Amino acid sequence: MAGIIDGKVFAAELRARVANVVSGLKSSHGLVPGIAVVLVGEDPASEVYVRNKGKQTVEVGMASFEHRLPDKTTEDDLLALIEQLNGDPAVHGILVQLPLPAQIDAHAVINAIDPAKDVDGFHLSNVGLLATGRPRLVPCTPLGCMILLQQTMENLSGKQAVVVGRSNIVGKPMASLLLAAHCTVTIAHSRTQDLPGVCRDADILIAAVGRPQMITGDWIKPGAVAIDVGINRIDTQEGKTRLVGDVDFDSVSKVAGAVTPVPGGVGPMTIACLLRNTVQAACSASSLPFSM
Ligand code: NAP
Repeated sequence: MAGIIDGKVFAAELRARVANVVSGLKSSHGLVPGIAVVLVGEDPASEVYVRNKGKQTVEVGMASFEHRLPDKTTEDDLLALIEQLNGDPAVHGILVQLPLPAQIDAHAVINAIDPAKDVDGFHLSNVGLLATGRPRLVPCTPLGCMILLQQTMENLSGKQAVVVGRSNIVGKPMASLLLAAHCTVTIAHSRTQDLPGVCRDADILIAAVGRPQMITGDWIKPGAVAIDVGINRIDTQEGKTRLVGDVDFDSVSKVAGAVTPVPGGVGPMTIACLLRNTVQAACSASSLPFSM
């Protein structure tokens, strides 16, 4: 049976390190890292994420600023808020919760954020820095996956890594990070031929697809490490719903060396990495050294 990579434990450790650094910044420099989270509309899943982010931000001693805007908000109004947050010295990180309502161009909004406050790492300049091997603020979910991998495997160098999914927020930055860690990286997607065969070559398999339990045990190289980014809600036979990943945990855990569960794997790391990135941005704004 595979080892279970407990994201809750690693996320708690990361949050404890964040809280420790925040405490030092306060006492030595009077600096309180602050994050502004902007939520437009009333998407229930986004509401839950924003509430959790706010709670965890305060728990590690940072300042949390929440901006809830109505569903009908115009792009101009949202851009005006971003400009205000860009100029606010108490705000070191800005996160605009996606998805945005259809009348707003998400690219325009993301690229209006000061790249130095772009704690999601989605601004084109941060994307370019990561892609060219000079990472600054790195997207939280792939960063969380990398931390889990580094804690699980002794050495990533030279390993075959397959990333299933090529989105801008997970698949592509994940591939850049694996490449920077000297893996040999394949990015697979919906047009990939013989996806099971491609996956069977992987020492490291990252699933970021959004298809419930698509990846089964017969796709896995024995002993491989499988990181499941997917979050899918499915109906149960009892008429309820439950969360599952893109990986079929029961069959994959019989073959893999280690696997992340859903929930409790990658998910908790994402918010912890957001807190980490905000501390990084706050240190950078004050020209203070940062390591974590
Ligand atoms: P996305 O933008 O929808 O991208 C999905 C990717 O999967 C696309 O590249 C798509 O290929 C590929 N794909 C779809 N069906 C496929 C198939 N049958 N075979 C192979 N590839 C296929 O999704 P995302 O934003 O990257 O998110 C992926 C999953 O991660 C979702 O379940 C999401 O909820 C979850 N997620 C979790 C976290 C977290 O904190 N744990 C954070 C972000 C996302 P094409 O490009 O060819 O269409």
